Amino acid sequence: MKPPTETEPNRRILVIDDNRAIHADVRRILVGDQVDRSDLESDEEFLFDDAPAAATRFEIDSAYQGQEGLALLEKSIAENRPYAMALVDVRMPPGWDGVETIGRLWRVDPHLQAVICTAYSDYSWTDIVRRLGNSDNLLILKKPFDNIEVIQLAHALTNKWRVGRQASARMEDLDRMVARRTEQLRKAEEAFRGVFEASPIAITLCDMAGRYLDVNRAFEEMVGLAKDRMIGKDAVELGWLDSRESLHELGRRLASFGCVDAHEWAYTNPTLGRRNGLLWLREVTIDRSPHVLGFYLDITDRKRMEEDLRLARIGAEAAARAKSEFLSNMSHEIHTPLNGVLGLSALLADSNMPEDARSMLRLVRSSGETLAKILDDVLDFSRIESGKLELEQAPFSFRDAMEWGVELFRAMAGNKHLRLNLSVESGVPERLDGDATRIRQVLANLIGNAIKFTEQGTIDVEAGLAREPAPAGQYRIRVSVRDSGIGIPPDKLSRLFQPFSQVDASSNRRFGGSGLGLAISRRLVEAMGGPIRVESRPGEGSVFEFDFVAGSSAGRSPAPEPVGQPELGQMRILVAEDNPVNQTVVKLVLQRLGCNVDVVADGMATLSRVQAASYDAILMDIQMPGLGGLEAARRIRSLSAPCSRTPIVGLTASVTVENREACFAAGMNDYLSKPLSIDALRKALGRYSPANRLKDEAPEPSHNAG
Ligand code: ADP
Repeated sequence: MKPPTETEPNRRILVIDDNRAIHADVRRILVGDQVDRSDLESDEEFLFDDAPAAATRFEIDSAYQGQEGLALLEKSIAENRPYAMALVDVRMPPGWDGVETIGRLWRVDPHLQAVICTAYSDYSWTDIVRRLGNSDNLLILKKPFDNIEVIQLAHALTNKWRVGRQASARMEDLDRMVARRTEQLRKAEEAFRGVFEASPIAITLCDMAGRYLDVNRAFEEMVGLAKDRMIGKDAVELGWLDSRESLHELGRRLASFGCVDAHEWAYTNPTLGRRNGLLWLREVTIDRSPHVLGFYLDITDRKRMEEDLRLARIGAEAAARAKSEFLSNMSHEIHTPLNGVLGLSALLADSNMPEDARSMLRLVRSSGETLAKILDDVLDFSRIESGKLELEQAPFSFRDAMEWGVELFRAMAGNKHLRLNLSVESGVPERLDGDATRIRQVLANLIGNAIKFTEQGTIDVEAGLAREPAPAGQYRIRVSVRDSGIGIPPDKLSRLFQPFSQVDASSNRRFGGSGLGLAISRRLVEAMGGPIRVESRPGEGSVFEFDFVAGSSAGRSPAPEPVGQPELGQMRILVAEDNPVNQTVVKLVLQRLGCNVDVVADGMATLSRVQAASYDAILMDIQMPGLGGLEAARRIRSLSAPCSRTPIVGLTASVTVENREACFAAGMNDYLSKPLSIDALRKALGRYSPANRLKDEAPEPSHNAG
């Protein structure tokens, strides 16, 4: 049954009395048909301190027997127009009496406010209570009625009915809300259970003392124990924490911060042994009391992997060190005899010999040079690969570098009747800051390849500013080498810059080469801030193009090269070199250049010779047994003048930035790499020749020597 709305008053009253006069009286009092309304209103106002009764319209229905009253009540309920109150006479012969009637009315509508009207004490209150039960909805009204009393009752009881209905409606709302919340909670708990059980992450629920109340399957699997073996125990009792103090410490952290994050702990799994885990704790309220939710991650494998990686890294570093030492030694060992082959064949070339022997000698020399080039490529590549590529930042003339590259191959191109052209756009600055040696190396590799793989036509070398932007204050320069040679098949282009890759093995046999040139070039170009790319069509030719970024060296000039071939005159040179072949080669070359030469085989001998006699320069091998060249140079610099000022030119197995820096740091004035070229030797020593030097000019190291 839906009651009238909460705000809507219900003033419907059912009067059940066999005496018709009573009905008229009640109507008169409450509806006021026969009375002066103003009297009634003033009475009401006086009584209820409320709006005048004119606003209150009681509706009165009459029944003259209990059965008739019950029927009216049932009808009203069916029509959803319930009575708020019933006035019931006690004596209503021949039918039910008032008490009986009220009992039946309540069975239909327990909220009905019932008033028993009686003239005599037919029933005592106790009798009534015994028959109807203790009810708040019952009052006794003694006849004859007092008008005011009836009005007061009608107002009070109909209001009470309304308030009662409102209260029960509110209660029903509350009941519905509680039921809804309970359902939501049930579902939330069900969802939590589902997550808890199905989660691949190990989860536990503990009380505040750390005792396990529940654990999920993932946790059971992680620790290798069944749930019932853990419930009620804590991590100390289960042997996962060393001491109770550790458990308390976790509790303290949880109390202070409300959480514990990524705490490392170790536990024992019966099958897997000692394991490492990470632990997260959160305080949660369940059933109004605090609990601890724990999440666990097994990191044993991760830790093991980290450790393996660490060991692997140490191993790799050691291997890289060993490799680098090995390369350095091999380089020395191979360069030394190569130096002998090349040096001696250069010396022999100047001597008189029959033409057939001379052509054999040329082959010896070119084989030696090819071997030296391959060796340099392999060493260079391995140095770059091991992250040892260091680029120089020094002023240089860009045009000179380009011309150097082209001139280097002029003769070779001429031999094959190829045209070799160079064009440098006018916008490219004349002076740049960068590593000229490395730029020349890339250029030489590309021009060398172009000539190698072209049988007829032209090689065009072009340089200009790239359209792509360069970092502030720098230039992006583009260099391209175009040939009209054999070209490269499209499917081979992508592998071209990989180490040891050659387009086909037969061309390799025909043209020679290690397959490292482009791989080295790519690494150099990328280190200098640019890409290297190729476009090619088989049978038509190829274009190799690279960019590099260089600073502007406006105002700074490249170090001037001495003009012409310096004269060494009668220079006194001390050669410190342990290898007998090299000793012979260097001595013969220097003698041919007109020098007086003394030879020693190690650093200690160098020290004593330099103190015993005066030399114009020392040519010192870096790698010598006993006291090496670098240490010998340092000791010479700490001697007293003038021998401390003797110019020293170091001999290194290969020109690397580290080797060069090491030479200067040890106080050497210059360095040369093996195999020695006569020109380079003449240039280097010429700077210290008394004939080419102003008399009062002291030979200062060109770097931070001393
Ligand atoms: P290599 O020392 O063998 O020349 P590179 O790395 O310089 O090594 O070149 C790798 C291969 O790329 C060469 O062997 C050749 O097959 C191909 N190649 C390079 N430049 C050219 C070119 N200009 N024309 C045709 N093929 C080329």
